[in-house]
Amino acid sequence: DQAESGVSHVAAYTEDINPYSERRLTLMTELRRAIHEDALSLHFQPQVRVSSGEVCGFEVLLRWTHPEHGFIPPDEFIPMAEQTGLIKPLTQWVLDRSLAFCRAMQDSGVRVRMSVNISAINLQERAFAENISHLLDEHGVEPGQLILEVTETATMINPQAALTALRVLYDAGIRLAIDDFGTGYSSLSYIRKLPVHEIKIDRSFVMEMDSNRDDATIVRTTINMCHDLGFEVVAEGVESNDTCELLRSMSCDIMQGFYLARPMPDDRVGPWLYDYRDGTAVPGV
Ligand code: C2E
Ligand code: MG
Ligand code: MG
Ligand code: MG
Repeated sequence: DQAESGVSHVAAYTEDINPYSERRLTLMTELRRAIHEDALSLHFQPQVRVSSGEVCGFEVLLRWTHPEHGFIPPDEFIPMAEQTGLIKPLTQWVLDRSLAFCRAMQDSGVRVRMSVNISAINLQERAFAENISHLLDEHGVEPGQLILEVTETATMINPQAALTALRVLYDAGIRLAIDDFGTGYSSLSYIRKLPVHEIKIDRSFVMEMDSNRDDATIVRTTINMCHDLGFEVVAEGVESNDTCELLRSMSCDIMQGFYLARPMPDDRVGPWLYDYRDGTAVPGV
């Protein structure tokens, strides 16, 4: 996996708390250049319907391989991009590429949804929804095939603006998901007022639910409450077959995790789908 190579460099960035330090500014200049020079890439991680095993979509995850520092994880550079405003062109780039790939897959006979992560800042962009509608038209992708993932925390930074933005996107037919649910300070009483279709239970509750009773209880309770409130539920961080079985017994809707597949580059998606349908990619699903 690419993840290891950049770790030591990343530690250096994490220790560096000044958002305007020389090093960060350099990194952001390089990220800006990376967007224009296509040094960024997207990886895709399958999402599978629990009841049928059908692949219903892919989450799009941004990858940046720096010429000197190697792999830099998104958890490191996304926050910096948010602080510098670079997140706007970055999200636009991710959306454009994701929809192009969605279209390409559809042309090859595979109709799936694309889940794209967006930031709080994007929800405050003036023409965000308009730009997306334009991209959907351009690529010939139906709005219901695009899912935007936004964290609960992101919706709370400027709640009124976020609510308005979500409403516009929702009304345009785009699907909306609350990401990392359970890790922020919000609650279901807050979430239930948001115009969203699905809730993604944070992987910290899912990863060990096959051996940790409390985690299993939290996941089961969350699924039941979300269903009662009319949301679909996605479990992320599925790492074992036991967890798949548990999620099935809890009537979870969709699952995603290393047990099914790690995020992969676009040219691996076709072969993976082939193996998956063949039954050789993931035992027991
Ligand atoms: P996220 O949206 O919650 O994405 C899921 C993360 O969990 C991904 O990490 C994925 O590789 C990882 N993951 C998936 N299955 C498993 C599993 O079974 N076990 C474990 N331990 N991890 C699993 P990644 O790719 O490093 O992304 C981290 C975060 O960076 C994402 O969390 C998201 O918040 C952010 N991010 C990634 N791409 C983008 C992007 O294009 N735009 C924005 N705004 N944020 C992004
Ligand atoms: Mg996500
Ligand atoms: Mg998440
Ligand atoms: Mg996250």
